[in-house]
Amino acid sequence: MNELMKDVLVRGTAWDGKLRVFAVRTTQLVEELRRRHATYPTTTAALGRTLTAGAMMGAMLKGEEKLIIQVKGDGPVGQIVVDANAKGQVRGYVDNPQVQLPSNALGKLDVAGAVGRNGFIYVTKDLGLKESYIGSVPIVSGELGEDFTYYFAVSEQTNTAVGLGVLVEEDNSVIQAGGYIIQLLPGITDADITRLEQALAGMPALTSLLAQGETPESILIRLVGEDGLKIHDTMDIEFHCPCSSERMERNLISLGATELQQIIEEDGKAEVVCHFCNEAYTFERDKLEELLDQAKPKPIH
Ligand code: ZN
Repeated sequence: MNELMKDVLVRGTAWDGKLRVFAVRTTQLVEELRRRHATYPTTTAALGRTLTAGAMMGAMLKGEEKLIIQVKGDGPVGQIVVDANAKGQVRGYVDNPQVQLPSNALGKLDVAGAVGRNGFIYVTKDLGLKESYIGSVPIVSGELGEDFTYYFAVSEQTNTAVGLGVLVEEDNSVIQAGGYIIQLLPGITDADITRLEQALAGMPALTSLLAQGETPESILIRLVGEDGLKIHDTMDIEFHCPCSSERMERNLISLGATELQQIIEEDGKAEVVCHFCNEAYTFERDKLEELLDQAKPKPIH
């Protein structure tokens, strides 16, 4: 893996505003979460594809908006959860990180086998309004690219092509990861659609393009041509988890005095692990007693 290549996302429009386009390299992000959760290759691909979709869907938001993707299939990895925001910060986890399956009939990592072919994808957007926006669609393939394509068509009424790829090394580390999203906007003609379909059909595997040194921008040029492409923005994508010792203290306090008392008596300390980044926070007896004090109902004067 090339340590110097930062993860980057480009977004723009093409063909006189008839296409909205996104492309991203997520190699460092997927490797960071692979390492934190010690995922096996099939799981790395499933989590990595969801992280990559999340990075691009986060880039569709603005300001303080954020979203959570939950892929709940009936496969052995269990639930995949990815959380992303408009600042390019992404994190995620999977219920069962150590799922490894034999390659599928195409000789590829069997993502659909790991995710399952039945279930739902939920996208919850926090747009800073009172109520969150929740969209959900049934899983149609389990390979995830097609599933997000279906999500955009049904839940956001936008015809979209989604490509997601994760390539894993023999030592389990991530060699390349990335993706693209092409959305068809009003004004698109049948001839445009045919042209796009041909470009998509002729695309080599995303991860092999990235391995050859292609960038998100050059991948978009392959898809829509150089002339009609307008890049509006380039942003860094990075792993970020806002968890902290203070947040974990608040979680412990919210358990309530009775439960905290029980932890102090039975274990004498507490270890709290963040689902999203696998960071462990340990609280010794002294600290727990302090938190217990705060959890006790305050007398009313
Ligand atoms: Zn965390």
